[in-house]
Amino acid sequence: MAYQTINPYTNKTIHTYENATNADIEQALANAQARYKQWRNDPVSSRTAALQKLADLFRDQVDELATVLTTDMGKLFTEAKGEVLLCADIAEYYAKNAERLLAPRQIKSIAGEAQLENHPLGVLLAVEPWNFPYYQMMRIFAPNYAVGDPIVYKHAANTPGAALAFEKAVIEAGAPVDALANLFLSYDQVADVIADKRIVGVALTGSERGGRSVAEAAGKNLKKNTMELGGADAFVVASDADMTQVNAIAPRARLYNCGQVCTSSKRFIVTENHYDEFLTSLKQAFGNAKLGDPMDPQTTLAPMSSARAKEKLQQQVDAAIDAGATLYFRHDPVDSTGQFFLPTILTDITKDNPAYYQEFFGPVAMVYKVKDDQEAIELANDSELGLGGIVFAGNKERGAKIASQIETGMVFVNTFFSTLPELEFGGVKLSGYGREMGESGILSFANQELVVKR
Ligand code: NAP
Repeated sequence: MAYQTINPYTNKTIHTYENATNADIEQALANAQARYKQWRNDPVSSRTAALQKLADLFRDQVDELATVLTTDMGKLFTEAKGEVLLCADIAEYYAKNAERLLAPRQIKSIAGEAQLENHPLGVLLAVEPWNFPYYQMMRIFAPNYAVGDPIVYKHAANTPGAALAFEKAVIEAGAPVDALANLFLSYDQVADVIADKRIVGVALTGSERGGRSVAEAAGKNLKKNTMELGGADAFVVASDADMTQVNAIAPRARLYNCGQVCTSSKRFIVTENHYDEFLTSLKQAFGNAKLGDPMDPQTTLAPMSSARAKEKLQQQVDAAIDAGATLYFRHDPVDSTGQFFLPTILTDITKDNPAYYQEFFGPVAMVYKVKDDQEAIELANDSELGLGGIVFAGNKERGAKIASQIETGMVFVNTFFSTLPELEFGGVKLSGYGREMGESGILSFANQELVVKR
């Protein structure tokens, strides 16, 4: 697919970009390898200043950077600004904490004085999706820049503006030009880059389909890899949940970023005593969503990222209804040629309905009725995916007990799901493996070298 910015609100093609040539790829890999060799000898502290400058730059240029996101993939401008500021926080966190996180660790051993030292591993390939174009990049860039791993990256074909803006910001912040390189790669070129001897690790965020393909190439070439894939996250409402809180958070948990979030709540699992109230409240909130120009601060729901994404979601909803799901609610039509998907609520989704095991990547809520916590946990776990999740219960200890029984990577109790620089991000089952950010994420691509002396 061509690398193109097509504004999904206006449907205008803003820019089309040429794919990288083999010479571009060779140059980027040679530069990155030379940078790695330099960085092997440099301490972490030599790199953190550029991360702080990057944080400052993201804050200073918030409007400009956010506009690129809204143009590339339609995100609400207000949400785009939030993404830019989150990126600033991530860069700043690793500027301030990387030395501590990467400090050598002493090990008590009969072998002698043992310690694990964290060294750079080498050049990484990152393959990233369009839904949070800067955030996904920052999640992999900031920790690994601190470690000393140069990165070449392939961003999504529909967010080339953001791919270029991220690279420009990093260089403007004072990082060496060979620390990060955007390459508009075809799938075949991705496979070639993975096979290249200079690449030592691969990080992909995206769909199961993309993940399988990239992980296969990485496995064939014995390259370490992390996979951050899709989710069908449960939002569990226990029998004693505070419904004022639930009703305030549930619509946002589904509609934020037009529902195009890996950790959006996609399956609402509600105990029977709250079911009717929950549905009525969700319907009202979905009905109040204001679809319109994503640059307008009054708009609360943006268009979807592309015509293709909208079509795919429509097909899933149609198939779910054909298989017996009830269309409980659909937002009134809007008078616009933008790629809007009307917020939709589906109920009565049985196990034999294809929707039951699918990820719906857009503003569609699936709501299930259960009799108690145990049934809620069983339903939450009846999924091939396990990325995030939210639990609401009468108190946080009871909520945490339910949370621990859910087979997933991250759960938030009695609060909105958030991603923060200090928190590990990642899933289990077909949602992937490995972690980005946090104490374990920063080590994903570090050479944890054991040194023992006597
Ligand atoms: P996608 O199709 O897998 O695309 C993600 C990236 O992978 C893009 O750069 C894409 O390139 C590339 N790609 C796809 N197939 C490839 C292949 N065979 N070889 C090389 N590169 C390939 O994912 P998407 O559908 O755009 O994104 C939405 C999915 O990502 C959802 O499932 C969502 O839940 C998941 N996601 C997960 C996380 C997480 O952290 N766990 C975060 C955000 C999104 P092209 O654009 O050129 O196709």
